[in-house]
This record gives sequence, C-alpha cells and structure tokens, in this order.
Amino acid sequence: MRQRPLGRLTLAFVKASPEAQLRLLELADLDTELGRLDHRRRTLPENAELAQLSERAAKVRDAITIADTNLGDLDRELGRAEKDVDQVRVRIDRDNQRLDAGQVSNARELESLQNEVASLRRRQGDLEEVVLELMERRESAQALRDGAGAEAETVGADETALTARRDAAMAEIEEQAAKATAARAAIVSDVPADLLALYDKIRSSVGGVGAAPLRRGQCGGCREMLSTVELNEIRRAAPDEVVRHEECRRILVRTPDSGL
Ligand SMILES: [Zn+2]
Repeated sequence: MRQRPLGRLTLAFVKASPEAQLRLLELADLDTELGRLDHRRRTLPENAELAQLSERAAKVRDAITIADTNLGDLDRELGRAEKDVDQVRVRIDRDNQRLDAGQVSNARELESLQNEVASLRRRQGDLEEVVLELMERRESAQALRDGAGAEAETVGADETALTARRDAAMAEIEEQAAKATAARAAIVSDVPADLLALYDKIRSSVGGVGAAPLRRGQCGGCREMLSTVELNEIRRAAPDEVVRHEECRRILVRTPDSGL
C-alpha cells in the first residue's frame, strides 16, 4: 500500500471523508464481534466434553467386546462340563440297571461293577463342582457385561443430550454471525472501495481489526498512548487524511473525544 510519511505519522495515500472513516469503526466493531463468535465456535466447551465422552464410549465398547468374548468362552466350557456330567450319569444309570436286574452273578464282576459305580459317582461329584464353579464365573462375567451395557446406555444418553446442547449453542452463534455478516455487508457498501481495501489489507496483516478510534490520546487498537508530537501531527492533518498509527499500523480514526 502506498503511503506518505509525515513526521512520525504515516498518512495513507487514500483520502476519505471523516464520515467514511467513522464507518470503519462500525466495521471494526463487527469484525471484533465476528472474531469473538469464531473463537466461541472453535472453543465450545461442549465439543471438548463430546471428545471426552467419545473416548469413554470407545472404552465401554471395548469392555463389552471383552465381556461378550468371555461369556461365549464360559458358555462353551459350561456346555462341555454339563455334557461330561450327563455322560457319567448315563454310565452310572446303566451300571445300576445291570446291578438291579441281577445280571451280574460272578462275585468278582459284581465287586468290579460296584467299584466302577463308586468311582463314577466321585467323578460325577467332581464334574458337578466344575459346573458350579463355571456357573459362578459366568454370573460374575454376566454382571460385568450388564455393568458395561448400562454404562454404554448412560454414555449414549449423555452424548445425545450434549450433542443437542452443542447444536443449540452452535445455532445461536451462527444466528449472531449471520446478523453481524449482514450488518457488515450493509456498511461495506457505504465505504469507498480504496478505503475498504486499505482496511482489509491492514486487517489481514495485523489481525483482528484494521481501524481503531483515537480516544483521549490513546489508540483503541493497540492501547498505546500517542506522544504529544504524534498528536500535534494529527491536529495538523486535514480531516480527509487517513491517519495510521505507527505502532500497530491500524487506521486511526479521529472521534469527538480524541483529545486533540
Ligand atoms: Zn495502535
């Protein structure tokens, strides 16, 4: 941007009426508002909370997978153990039938069969112990699975509620941004093109706003107090000169309470 130095002050090559320069302050207010809304949009606490919740949801899903696998394994083990018990029971029944029917008359064979029944009964007892132990383990596994399932529901409900809150906050921000954008467009159509170009260029290089009011000797953009020399130079500048603050490069707009 071409500019003419005047002492410590920089005067923009652009000239504009005091009214047009004052419009820049309205533009700056709207840009500040839009910047604030953009910051809110990017730092919504609901989004951070949602990220945490989604981590929790992933952990709960893992816990459910592990619990389901565990339950499946236990069910298979239990099925096998119960089948073992049944087989032993069938053999005991068969031996007992043979004994009851008096089919075995040989004393040694009789003793051997009775021993077998006794041994089978011990085996049945052991296997039933295994079944009981597996059933207890299955109960604990099911309790873990139920707990994880309940937590998944809680997390899901929290996510739904939080998403609704986030969307509502976002909608409010968008509504305010739309209003500010519309107001900005209306002002832009009133500002001379060369002045607007200067303002936008400064805004993109400085960040935030491209113009600030001079109030009681202070730059409203960077909050620096202007020196007496600078204030004297501004006093001497014609009203249609576009003055820039040396310190922050912003357009310094003279106001009724500039302290000149
Ligand atoms: Zn400044």
